[in-house]
Amino acid sequence: MRRWAAGETVVVRNIARSDDTVTSALPAIAIGDDDAALALYIPAGTVAKDNYVVPPAERAASVATAAASAARRHVDRTWAAPSLRLYLPGEAFSVWLFFDAGHGFTGWYGNLEAPFVRTALGIDTRDHGLDVVADAKRRWRWKDEDEFAARLARGLDTAEHQTAVRAAGRSFIARLEAGTSPFDDGWPDWRPPAGWTPRDLPDDWRADLGSGPQLR
Ligand SMILES: [Mg+2]
Repeated sequence: MRRWAAGETVVVRNIARSDDTVTSALPAIAIGDDDAALALYIPAGTVAKDNYVVPPAERAASVATAAASAARRHVDRTWAAPSLRLYLPGEAFSVWLFFDAGHGFTGWYGNLEAPFVRTALGIDTRDHGLDVVADAKRRWRWKDEDEFAARLARGLDTAEHQTAVRAAGRSFIARLEAGTSPFDDGWPDWRPPAGWTPRDLPDDWRADLGSGPQLR
C-alpha cells in the first residue's frame, strides 16, 4: 500500500454512487500519512473540478439518473481560504478544518462519506450528502438534512444506508464533543511550510481508477 510523503500532491476525488463517474477532483498536498490519518492541506487559491456547483433544482435532478450524471459538466471551483483535511482509515467520515485568509482557525466540518480508497492519484471517496458543521468552540449542527431527507423520499438512498450515515455522523459528533483525537491533536495551530502553493490536477484526473466497487 502506497503512503503519501509530505509535500506530494494527493488528488481527492468524489465518485458518484449512481454510475461511478468522477463528480469532483481536488489537488491537495500531503502533510503526513500514517495509521491514524492521511492529513492534507489545501492552500487558498486551489482550483478543483466540481460538478455539484449547480443550482439546487438542477442539482436535485442531476443525481437522479446515470444518464443525467454523465451529462453533468465540470466547472472550476476555487477554494478562497486555506483548509485542512484528515482522512481516517476505515471511518465513514473525514474531518475538515477551515481557516480564514490569515490562517486563523474558524471551525470543523464532518464530511460523511464512504471510507476512503487509495488510488494511483490519491484517494477516492463517495459523499453521503449529510454533513456536520461545528465552530471553533465545537458547537455543532447537522447540515443539508433537507437534501438528505429528499434523497430518501425519492428512493435515491435506502433507509438502511441513511441509518449507517447518521451513525457515522454521531461517531464524529461524539469525538468532537469529547475533544478526543483528532480534535486534540493540535491541528488548528498547524501552519504550512513556506512555499506550499496550490497544486494543479493531473491531466488524467477523470480516469476510472477502479475504486467504485470498493466504495460503500
Ligand atoms: Mg458532504
